[in-house]
Parts: sequence; C-alpha cells; structure tokens
Amino acid sequence: MDRKNELLRKTFGWTSFREGQEELVDAVLSGRDVFGVMPTGGGKSLCYQLPALLLPGVTLVVSPLISLMKDQVMALRSLGVPAAYINSSQSSEEARRVYAGMRAGEYKLLYIAPERLTLEGFTEAARSLTVPLIAVDEAHCISQWGQDFRPSYLKIPDFISRLDRRPTLAAFTATATPEVRGDVERLLGLRSPLHVVTGFDRPNLRFDVLKPHKKYDALLGLLRTRRDRTGIVYCSTRREVERVCEALRLDGYAATRYHAGLEDEERRRNQEDFLYDRSTVMVATNAFGMGIDKSNVSFVIHYNMPKSLEAYYQEAGRAGRDGSPADCVLLYSPGDIYTARMLIESSAENSELTPEERARVTERDYERLERMTEYCHTTGCYRGYILDYFGQAHGERCGNCGNCDGSFTELDITREAQMVLSCVLRVHDKLGYYVGQGLIGRVLRGGRDKRIFALDLDGLSTYGIMRGTAAGRLRDIFDALLEAGYLRKDGDHGTILPTPAAREVLFHGKAVAMRVKSGPEAVRERTSSRSGRTARVPEPEYTEPGDADNRLLEALKLLRLQIAREEGVPLYVVFFNATLTEMVRRKPRNMGEFLEVPGVGTVKAGRYGELFMDEIKKCL
Ligand code: ADP
Ligand code: ZN
Repeated sequence: MDRKNELLRKTFGWTSFREGQEELVDAVLSGRDVFGVMPTGGGKSLCYQLPALLLPGVTLVVSPLISLMKDQVMALRSLGVPAAYINSSQSSEEARRVYAGMRAGEYKLLYIAPERLTLEGFTEAARSLTVPLIAVDEAHCISQWGQDFRPSYLKIPDFISRLDRRPTLAAFTATATPEVRGDVERLLGLRSPLHVVTGFDRPNLRFDVLKPHKKYDALLGLLRTRRDRTGIVYCSTRREVERVCEALRLDGYAATRYHAGLEDEERRRNQEDFLYDRSTVMVATNAFGMGIDKSNVSFVIHYNMPKSLEAYYQEAGRAGRDGSPADCVLLYSPGDIYTARMLIESSAENSELTPEERARVTERDYERLERMTEYCHTTGCYRGYILDYFGQAHGERCGNCGNCDGSFTELDITREAQMVLSCVLRVHDKLGYYVGQGLIGRVLRGGRDKRIFALDLDGLSTYGIMRGTAAGRLRDIFDALLEAGYLRKDGDHGTILPTPAAREVLFHGKAVAMRVKSGPEAVRERTSSRSGRTARVPEPEYTEPGDADNRLLEALKLLRLQIAREEGVPLYVVFFNATLTEMVRRKPRNMGEFLEVPGVGTVKAGRYGELFMDEIKKCL
C-alpha cells in the first residue's frame, strides 16, 4: 500500500476516498494549486489534512471561525496528528506556547484566523518555517458576491507574497455560483489550479417542506419524534430565535440559542453546549454553523424560509455529515417571503457598494428568493429541484424526499373558493375598503364578535355560510388561494385583495384544487397536536435493526458517552454514530476486524478497541 492510502486507512480510518478527494490530494502532493467545490459535509478537510502529513514542514489552514478551530484541532489530535491553532481567544501564555511549538517544528497543521495574517509577529514567525501548503477553507469569504464576505480574507495574497517560497494553495468552498468561483480564483491568485467540482447530492438527507398553520406546534411535533437526536432549528431573525428557544425550554427541551446579537461569551458557551451534546437543540440565525464539524446533527429544521437555495442547502447540509440518515424540513408560510424581502432590502442598505453594484446585488437576491419560494411550492422531487439549481443531472424521483415518498390528495375546493372570494368582495362593497384574512374568516364562519356587529357584517349574504368548516381548514383554503394567485396580501397592512384571476373562479366556474399532504410527516403532525404536549409519537421513517442490535448500539453509545465525559471531548471525537452502527453490524472480535470498521484508525483502535470489543462480546 502506498503512503497515501496507508494514512487514509490507518490514521483517518476510512476505507476509501470519497468523490474528488483523491484527485485533490494527488494534485496538492504534486505541488499544484487546487480549487475544490464540494457540498458541506463532502469531506473537504481530508484534502488538505492528508497531504499535510506527507509534506515537509507545517501546513497553514486559514479558517474563518475561531471558535471552532479548537474543535478541529482536538479531532486531529485524537487521530494522533500533531496540530494546533492560534487565535485571539487564547491567553498570551497559550499563544506563546503554540508559537514556541511552531518554531520547534512540532506541528503538521496549524489553524489560523485570517486576521492573524496581518500581524507582523505572525508573519515573522511564519517566515522562519517550511510552509509547503496553505489551505483556505470557506474560500468564498473572499468574494463580495458570496454570502459571508470577510475583508480579512483579501489579505491572504499579501501574506503569501511575504514568504520566501510560495506554498501550494488549496481553496475550498461549497458555494455554487460561477461569479463567486471566479472571484475566489482571481482574488486568491490561484495558479492554473485543478478544479474539482463534486456532486452536490447528499443521498442520506431527506428533504421536506411543510406548510403548517401553527409553526410552533409543527416544530414540537417534529422534535417529539426526535427526542434522542441532535439538531438545529434555523430562524430568520434574532427575535424569532429568542422566542422559539424560550418556548422550547419551557416545553422541556434542552435548547440553546445563537445569534449575532448575543455577547461573545454567551455565544461561545451555547455553541460549546451544542457541540458537546449538553444541549440537543440549537435555535439559531444563519450566523451559526459556518465551519461547524459536528457530525451527528441528525436534523435541520428551518422555522422560516431562507433567502436563497444556496443558504438553504448550506444550512440544511449541516445535517447528517457522518452519512447517517438525517432530515431537512422547511416550515413554510407565505409571511416568510416578506421577512426575506426585508432582509434583502436591509442588507442592501448596509453594504458599502456603489449604487449600481447594489442594484445588481439586490436584483440577484430577488431572483434567488424567487427560486427559493418556488422550491417550497414544487410538487416535484425536492432533491431534484436543488440539483437542477446547482446544475447537476439527476433521476426524476429520488424516493427520499417529502414529495417522492409522501402521498398527496387533491381536493376540489371550487365551491369553498367561490364562497371566500365572494365574501371578500361583499365586505369590500359594504365597507369601501379591504380587510384582513382573520375578519373575512370570522364572517364566513358566522363569528359573533363586536367588530362584526359594529360593522354590520352579520347582515351580509355570505355571513355564516362556512359555519361547518374548521378554522384550520379555512386557513388552508386561504393559503391555497394566495398560492394560486386568486388572492393577494397587501404587505403593509396584511389585507386580502382579490386579483383579476379571481373573476374566472367567481363568474366562469373555473375549478380550484388544493393539495393536501398525507405522507408520514403530515400524519405525525396531526397525531401529535391531538395527543397533547407530552405525548410520545412512534417514529415511522427509520427502519431500525433487530432488538439485540438496538441494545448493543445503545450500549456502545453509552460507553462512548462515558469516554467522552472522561476525556472532555464531544461524542463524535470518540467515534461517529455511523462508526458505531458499523461496529454493531460487523461485531468485530479482534483488532484486525476492529480496524476494518470504517471510521476506525490505528490511534483510536489502540485507545478504545478493547473497551468496545468487550462491550460487543457481552452482547453476543
Ligand atoms: P466539509 O466538506 O463540510 O468540510 P468534512 O471535511 O468536515 O466536510 O467531512 C465531513 C464528514 O465526512 C466528516 O465527519 C469526515 O470525518 C467524514 N469523511 C471525510 N472523508 C471521508 C472518507 N473518505 N470516508 C468516510 N468519511 C469521510
Ligand atoms: Zn425526491
């Protein structure tokens, strides 16, 4: 076996390279610049970590999120790889120690924040070292077109030019758009790099979009069936984060929160609580997650629709990084569009772009939002929609998304639609202005509140004609009419107006249909809201192995938890979930077999092998 494959198996514990990894590793080893575009979770880090072990000297890794370096370094050390980081969160004592270790050539990998590159002291220290390779993680941060522009990334080329010998450059990103890719290549000064763009598909992720009336109830329903799992709930605004997190805590969930408005200290603490599995639900804005390598995130729920599919796929992609089945559920409501528009407008105001640039960026943002909204409404395969967006070919149905495995019922709601639309018109005729959905609904259902009587709306012919329709169903009908474009909402006042198309329904009998999801998620949501807050709902979507295997898996997880506590590391630093599952499947009885388990390298086998095999023996 050559050194490369030996390291892959023995140190990293993987049996084979993933798509794109080997080409990138080979190019870097031959001294050629590379540009790797892989989806989140695709395995970018191995592409520079493995070469770093084979090259002389120390590889520098530029990474934007200082709070996570510690974690990455810890994971490397657990594999027996000498690595360190330098950033502003360290005490000067610690930093001195790392500088000393760096000069003594103790490390193969050194993680640094981009700001560090502008410090004279660091440049001086770096000049005395052999630096064969600089890896730039999240390379899209260098581009203004990217979602996370970081001006300090622009300093990377300066830094490189001050080294005696230009190292090989390896840039990595998960961003798909050609503008950003072009920017990265130009601004970093990559020299005829090898481009590797791997498939964007993540087959272990199950995508779904739900359109619940009450998002919070739907969220509880989803969480209830995932109590023993860890996941992220993304919200669009800080306020929503606080609200949802607070409510979840009151409902007994170990939830924590993250957004840019919190004190550094709290952010750091909450993030660690989540990384170390002390909190199982992270409620956060998109400020959370860049560069996070928490492999056992088993669901990502979007409480609001994000601004673009790039953002959505990046955030959702934080689920299932260990390859286990994971869920990505988006809870959509039409109001999300207004929030997204607001965010687009305010980010345009804040930026330091020229007016023309700003207009172009805003226009592009609106196009992206349009596609994102379309995704929420597609009746085709969700995965297919995403892959189309990123320009990748795919089969017609993936079989693992809400539209492929859920079933729909089409309801004819023409009559109900006519009642609603005519009520909207009658109320307008009577009052001379349009009103909100709530009031129309109450008129239709024969409500007896003061406002109705004060406005004389109980005298209308449409008053009470939908008495027998449940409030929830009526809201479905409103949603369907809004979506189909027969009604529209006035953004400023939330009033409901008919569109010209409504005439077709009212006066020409045009049929209106409403799709109702009757897949597993829909069933679960209904069951859970009926059975009250503390009810446990059985999980339909995961096929678990037999009982004995389940018990063994639980036993191994417990053992992992004990080890992680003793060593003060996150669970996945000991072993990934997928690795434990494989252990259960293979039941290794000796070191040889233990080393065959994907995810097990020599260091971990030596450290934990006996313990885990003892546990397996007990359960045989
Ligand atoms: P990203 O591309 O998002 O930076 P990572 O490098 O963090 O992804 O890798 C994602 C996950 O895949 C990690 O848990 C990593 O350990 C695992 N992984 C990476 N390479 C391989 C491989 N060749 N075989 C199996 N798992 C791998
Ligand atoms: Zn599908």
